[in-house]
Amino acid sequence: MKQLKGIGASSGINYAKAFIIEPPIFQILEDKIKDIDFEIKKVNESIKSTISQLEVIKNIAFERLGEDKASIFDAHIQIAQDPEIKSQIEELIKIENYNSASATNLVFNNMSEMFSSMDDAYFKERASDVIDVKNRMLSNLLNIKLPDIMSINSDVIIVAHDLSPSETAMLNKKFVKGFVTNIGGRTSHAAIMARTMEIPAVLGLNNITDIVKNDQIVAIDGSAGIVEINPNNIKEWEDRKRIFEKEKIELKKYVDKKATTLDNHTVLVEANIGKPSDSDNLNQYGADGVGLYRSEFLYMEASNWPDIDNQFNAYKYVLEKQPNNLVIVRTLDIGGDKKLPYYTFEHEDNPFLGYRAIRLTLDKVDIFKTQLKALLKASKYGKLGIMFPMICTIDELLKAKEILEKCKNELETEKIEFSKDIKVGMMIEIPSAALIADKFAKYVDFFSIGTNDLIQYTFAVDRMSPKISHLYQPNNPSLLKAIELTILGAKKHNVSVAMCGEMAGDIMSIPILLGLGEKGLDAFSMSSSSILRAKKLICNLKHKECIELAKKALELETAQQVNDLVSNFLKSKKLI
Ligand code: PEP
Ligand code: MG
Repeated sequence: MKQLKGIGASSGINYAKAFIIEPPIFQILEDKIKDIDFEIKKVNESIKSTISQLEVIKNIAFERLGEDKASIFDAHIQIAQDPEIKSQIEELIKIENYNSASATNLVFNNMSEMFSSMDDAYFKERASDVIDVKNRMLSNLLNIKLPDIMSINSDVIIVAHDLSPSETAMLNKKFVKGFVTNIGGRTSHAAIMARTMEIPAVLGLNNITDIVKNDQIVAIDGSAGIVEINPNNIKEWEDRKRIFEKEKIELKKYVDKKATTLDNHTVLVEANIGKPSDSDNLNQYGADGVGLYRSEFLYMEASNWPDIDNQFNAYKYVLEKQPNNLVIVRTLDIGGDKKLPYYTFEHEDNPFLGYRAIRLTLDKVDIFKTQLKALLKASKYGKLGIMFPMICTIDELLKAKEILEKCKNELETEKIEFSKDIKVGMMIEIPSAALIADKFAKYVDFFSIGTNDLIQYTFAVDRMSPKISHLYQPNNPSLLKAIELTILGAKKHNVSVAMCGEMAGDIMSIPILLGLGEKGLDAFSMSSSSILRAKKLICNLKHKECIELAKKALELETAQQVNDLVSNFLKSKKLI
């Protein structure tokens, strides 16, 4: 037996025989050509075949995964049709006498390298889209078959270096019991599609393709990111699978339930989303609204600053999906690790402490106003909350609110309608704001604590740096103190207080967060897949006991002591 640890990308437990997908081997000769027209004709035919094959895959994806996921293949078709790519290939053939395959290979590789070199995880992942289309182009040019995934007709765990989006779309859930790959992360298309199809997946295992042989038994735990090859104890895996399936059914009971403690204290459990389509199935996940819509993805996916109509459509889409719940849209939070393809940030030694988020939008007022007006216009389609990120001084907050008022006045003059009941709030993610939260609370309707950044700035620990990740401590009493100050400050002015950082969905923090500052958080916002588990936990706790637990936690000195406290508390209630 051999155990490996990777990135748990799609939850679920399963085991089956390994089915290794060998990447296609293209022998690309560097031969110079004589017949230019013939090579160009071959490229054109390959583009045609590629597009028609992608159309077929798109239709399969539409049936299996729905419209949103199928649209990935529109993007692939666009790449295949891209006139700029085609003309670069033709130029290499005409001017440098490259053959069609080597010209295609070079142009696509350059494009994929450009994406790979970007800092942002989202753009890095797009490199695999380009390679996916390149492989299809080359397979058509060189007459080499791509792996035939559709022909799988017995239970398997797929083992691959990487799974392209088109390969993932072709997986048949009836036989594919899971997949494991050498590379890839939680935001790759393969991971996103696996979650939609509910196929367990563990990615980023480095060299699993070198370790596993075809037909060996592979067992995977897609939540914990664990893979076992030739497991000793299949019975144990069988039990784990049964427990997982049972829990999945049990969690479904919480879909329509409120998150109310045993002593009748109710909080909201909301979803964090990044794209409009993320709001499609929120009711299925049991979400009480959207606690954080990260609007920056709209900007990151565009090829230029998105205009008012483009943004309006996105916000309206989400608001209409949640007619009875608050949808909190965070204004542009760009900079730090989040870059834009059409805007060059000036070099800064510490971009996380630099020109980002509200600092940028208060400086680029036109861009800020476009977003605020799009939000105002969309506001009449639901219950909107507008949230400002990275506020560190009262002046910034007042300036942002002043610009919002200006936008309202301008829309009124233009006779454009908007809701009169828009909530305005701010993220608490910088210690300077947490420390005087009572003063900020006078000017807002709500706070949302962004612990991902608040931890980074409280401990001076870069959230992206694996070498110092041991210092990134959600349950450290100093962070709990900052959260308590925020809750107390909010309550002094009757302002609601939520949390939208990852800590809000952490079972080891939720009991404390329910009790901090006596009243605790009013809302917990998290990735949709964590909602039901959080609801179940809250429904099985007593608010009174959480208040006592939070008080005890604040008396302690280290994160480890707090973790032990919570762990013993949950064990005593048989909740872990
Ligand atoms: C946070 O900082 O906790 C947060 C929710 O924002 P982001 O992770 O997008 O910085
Ligand atoms: Mg943040």
